[in-house]
Amino acid sequence: MSAASPGTEPATSESIDARDGAAGTGGKRVLLAKPRGYCAGVDRAVITVEKALEMYGPPVYVRKEIVHNRHVVDTLRERGVIFVDETSEVPEGGLVVFSAHGVSPAVRAEAEERNLRTIDATCPLVTKVHKEVNRFARNDFDIMLIGHEGHEEVEGTSGEAPEHVQLVDTPEDVDKVQVRDPSKVVWLSQTTLSVDETMERVEQLRARFPEIADPPSDDICYATSNRQVAVKAMAAECDLVLVVGSRNSSNSQRLVEVALQAGARRAHLVDYAHEVDESWLDGVETVGVTSGASVPDVLVMELLQWLSDRGWADVQEVTTANEKISFALPRELRAGAGSSVR
Ligand code: SF4
Repeated sequence: MSAASPGTEPATSESIDARDGAAGTGGKRVLLAKPRGYCAGVDRAVITVEKALEMYGPPVYVRKEIVHNRHVVDTLRERGVIFVDETSEVPEGGLVVFSAHGVSPAVRAEAEERNLRTIDATCPLVTKVHKEVNRFARNDFDIMLIGHEGHEEVEGTSGEAPEHVQLVDTPEDVDKVQVRDPSKVVWLSQTTLSVDETMERVEQLRARFPEIADPPSDDICYATSNRQVAVKAMAAECDLVLVVGSRNSSNSQRLVEVALQAGARRAHLVDYAHEVDESWLDGVETVGVTSGASVPDVLVMELLQWLSDRGWADVQEVTTANEKISFALPRELRAGAGSSVR
């Protein structure tokens, strides 16, 4: 897995060294990871729902959480979005947005049968993995999909070719999978996993199936890997790392794990600053702060203010990459595209 992903420029040595220069000042300080927060896929998904509200008015239905962030979901709900678990909950002819995590062909077919108008906010990097599944399934490969059981993205991706895909979540799953032809096996992955843990799972699979093929390109997305690189760069200096993100956000949860593995003494996930337990700050000098790919930066700013009020006012940004990537809005919403919501 590469650290410098497409659409990403490696940080200059000055931006990384800025942290080192201040490290000797002692006392309370905050190291703030960059990149952090919103990725291009989340930005696109949130704008998609906002534009749908503007263009078509409420109610706009969204299947599942548009992105895994409590603040984003609550804010959109207040503006007239109705979140549903299944398309069967949307009234006939209603407008439904598919979330950034993607959906299976069965979900699309059900929406069509029920005459729903659809807008697809699936992240293009998730769609890329769907296409890989289809391609390898057409070539009759057994596909080992590394991912977390029950995660919406995994359900959508597996649903592209359920008869070819087996989910590998835990090390025990590696022992359980069965393949028809060991020379026709490939591994693919969910986009928001821990890079290191995924490679461990791949090596376990390779020990069983030495001919296993690699994905044509990294499935773990640039945003997930960049945020892990940034938190790793500062973790060893941190007595405490606070990750802003929601419990059901895979990439946010991974940031907590990566911080601990990279040497942070403690790490916690919080949705809001007020969730920080003041006792976590006992004996702490350096606090690391980062946020998951579905987190608006306003929540990080609130956490920085909360820390500043308690004496952690010295904030030094630790930059490991500069992200430039952005995605076009779904076709149905592009001005002048001449298409309308089905
Ligand atoms: S985390 Fe990655 S795959 Fe998920 S929405 Fe963001 S860019 Fe897309």
